[in-house]
Amino acid sequence: MSATPVTKTPASREMLAIDGGPPVRKTLLPYGHHSIEESDIEAVVQTLRSDWLTTGPKIAEFEEAIAAWVGAKYAVSFSSGTSALHAAAFAAGLQAGDEAITSPLTFAATANCVLYQGATPVFADVSPDTLNLDPQAAAARITSRTRAILPVDYAGHPADLDAILKLAGQHGLIVIEDACHALGAEYRKRRVGSLSHMTVFSFHPVKHLTTGEGGMVTTDNPEHAETLRRFRNHGISSDARQRQSLGQWHYEMVLLGFNYRLTDIACALGLEQSKRLDANLARRRQIAARYASAFREMPGVVPPQVRSDVNPAWHLYPIRLGLQQLSAGRGEVFCALRAENIGVNVHYIPVHRHPYYRDRFGYQGGEYPVAEDAYERLISLPMFHGMTDADVEDVLHAVTKVIRHFSR
Ligand SMILES: *Cc1c(COP(=O)(O)O)cnc(C)c1O
Repeated sequence: MSATPVTKTPASREMLAIDGGPPVRKTLLPYGHHSIEESDIEAVVQTLRSDWLTTGPKIAEFEEAIAAWVGAKYAVSFSSGTSALHAAAFAAGLQAGDEAITSPLTFAATANCVLYQGATPVFADVSPDTLNLDPQAAAARITSRTRAILPVDYAGHPADLDAILKLAGQHGLIVIEDACHALGAEYRKRRVGSLSHMTVFSFHPVKHLTTGEGGMVTTDNPEHAETLRRFRNHGISSDARQRQSLGQWHYEMVLLGFNYRLTDIACALGLEQSKRLDANLARRRQIAARYASAFREMPGVVPPQVRSDVNPAWHLYPIRLGLQQLSAGRGEVFCALRAENIGVNVHYIPVHRHPYYRDRFGYQGGEYPVAEDAYERLISLPMFHGMTDADVEDVLHAVTKVIRHFSR
């Protein structure tokens, strides 16, 4: 990796790949990608040769490593970020008749977990700078039925947690933070995972650390931790390994749970990956800084905004197009970048605009203007710790080429 990257800034307009010109890259650069090292493979193989493929010693080791790293008392692993969200919604006591407030600009799972419990997700609009849940908009949606708030740390930028926790305190609500983008993010010098009543992480391959599929809830509350552990294991009050070590066969099912367990094979991978979290975060921050400096002088591109009291974890790098300065819409710019072999993406179609939510709750569109306006202009650029400096420069070359072509 060179210390001083050079952008191959075109002097004049280049022919876009979408119009038949040569693409910036020969192969597609994805928006996110995992990285697996030899040590990961060895750790998994060691577990495959051991006595425990699931519910063995690697679970606790991985959970303790994550709890310590984020600064939480307890961490409970799950088979996915989505099952972790479901468990957190259960542990918060959400049930039929309850409401939970969340952001429309998220992956559907954030709101779906409320529906799994028979409760109703209520959306509140996002703040125009961070695109995170706006605490004032959330306050306006609180009713006598509200039981929880689910802020999302969009792109890895922590939500406005102090304001949300204060609001929750005033109304007796539980805060379930969807930090699936934000492992390693800092809010007022404290790591996400130690701040909300429960914080949810995902270990899907595009996230900061992967177990293939996987998730985790961190909490300081011992009752929540116990409920979460039972919920992931059919509602049973002890696990198979505890019973084996005590020489017992008797067990009790005390609540209606699921099989949401993460395997020891997956935890061995996660534990090994967790050793590289600091290095991977540093690399993501370096890439974000390079992007930000390039976009400071690029009309038509609005880089993600960062508040002064946070240090984002940069799961995504979503730019917003300044459509007034461009002769094309998001769709054309998106296709042009894909043709250059830059694997851009869009995060997210607002949840209330999906057919399921539209049909079930009667959303017409237009209810959440800040989120909906952002959606029309968002493009996620490639962002993952394994990107080389040359990859980053390819992205900047392609964005420069396409934006110049379409600038008014
Ligand atoms: C990835 C993600 C999830 C769900 O994670 P899975 O592990 O894929 O189930 C939930 N919410 C957000 C915001 C995510 O990005």
